[in-house]
Amino acid sequence: MRSAMLSFVSRAVLLSKHVPRVIYPVQRAALTIPTVAPTVDKKDRCVVVNWSSEKSEWSKYHFPWLRDNCQCSLCRDSNFSQRLLNTLEDATPADVRIPDDESGSVEVEWADGHCSQFSYDWLLTNSYCHNKVLTPKRTREVTLWDSSIKDNPPKMKYGDIMQDDNQSLLALLRNLYQYGFTLVEDTPPRPETMEAVGKRIGAISNNFFGALWFMEAGNMTVTHMSYGEKKIAPHNDMMGFNDTPGLFFFHVYELEGEGTDSLLIDSFRLASEVKKHNMEYFDLLSKVSLTYTNKYSETRDGVLHNGIYEEYPTTFTVDRNGEVVKIRLSQADRKPMDSIALAQAMKVLSCDADEAMDKMYKALRYLHSLIYDPKYMYKFRLKPGTLMLCDNHRLLHGRDEFTKGMGRRKACGLYVSQDEWHAKMKLLESELLD
Ligand SMILES: [Zn+2]
Repeated sequence: MRSAMLSFVSRAVLLSKHVPRVIYPVQRAALTIPTVAPTVDKKDRCVVVNWSSEKSEWSKYHFPWLRDNCQCSLCRDSNFSQRLLNTLEDATPADVRIPDDESGSVEVEWADGHCSQFSYDWLLTNSYCHNKVLTPKRTREVTLWDSSIKDNPPKMKYGDIMQDDNQSLLALLRNLYQYGFTLVEDTPPRPETMEAVGKRIGAISNNFFGALWFMEAGNMTVTHMSYGEKKIAPHNDMMGFNDTPGLFFFHVYELEGEGTDSLLIDSFRLASEVKKHNMEYFDLLSKVSLTYTNKYSETRDGVLHNGIYEEYPTTFTVDRNGEVVKIRLSQADRKPMDSIALAQAMKVLSCDADEAMDKMYKALRYLHSLIYDPKYMYKFRLKPGTLMLCDNHRLLHGRDEFTKGMGRRKACGLYVSQDEWHAKMKLLESELLD
């Protein structure tokens, strides 16, 4: 009989072929196929599978859950695994047995005569009630970085990315996932080349700036911060939107004057520092929702837009494993903290308003002390010919001031949604790596 442990070893190898180093590894006990037959608990509520003969490692599967998740071809579409029946109706078991065909499975016969078969592999993968940590954690590599990335930043060549074989395009997307950014060198300094790379990845998001947007520092007819000579503090783009941009393209195609170094910061790295330093700060930043201004000028139709803000994001978005998967931060655009945010902070800390406000500002101050710490900042001069792509859900970006008075800097940008570029990466992986 095939051992469950072996099958999970081979899955780990498969992952490591795609992903050289897994930061959040799959945490799985080394289990063997059950040597003790599954039992039904005394109140007929669930099947208990013992993963070791000593019964020291077990998982429970409740009957309504088993009926709901029957994998048979009557219950599920074979292509998309979508449910074809209402599987919530009746979950009364008539019998539980082990087929003697060595398939390594548990069979449940239901009162209406329907039979469901669950392989041990499937049961182990989907275990939700057990006495060991079996839950898969994040399996895709993320490399947290600091200023030392300047010695070897992820870089690719425009000519390679535009090749038909898609190998370099996939490498670009995987770099983006791993580091949150990639520089594309030898990009002819024109908006059209940036657009061409965008279209190779997927649909370009059409927001009220249009598909492509343009920015001209030194154009004194516009008063927006991005057009001036002063520095722009590290931030995420378009924080005043419910639908915030995913992948951010930025291409400087004309540059005169001194200064204007670009800044990139890995917010996942900062989040890990906040967590180490003070868990209360981390909780406040991941549970208190702040709001950002959503007034923009320079739109494609020249109209000032101000949408309906309904999402109220927290600074860190944390997934179900407690890992930060998204940041939303813009010091320039943050609106006054309101009564709802204060109430959330009071609830997080179980404290009064005075203490909540004090701690909330301490948390923000600490996070910003990291943001401005050169230790975590990758600083470089983005010159014409280098296209920058960065994950707006992960990296903060900004730029230095013109150091010798107002210079000239023409840049363009575009956005591709997070789902769009993730899907392209997974599609290319399935085509090119499997
Ligand atoms: Zn079924």
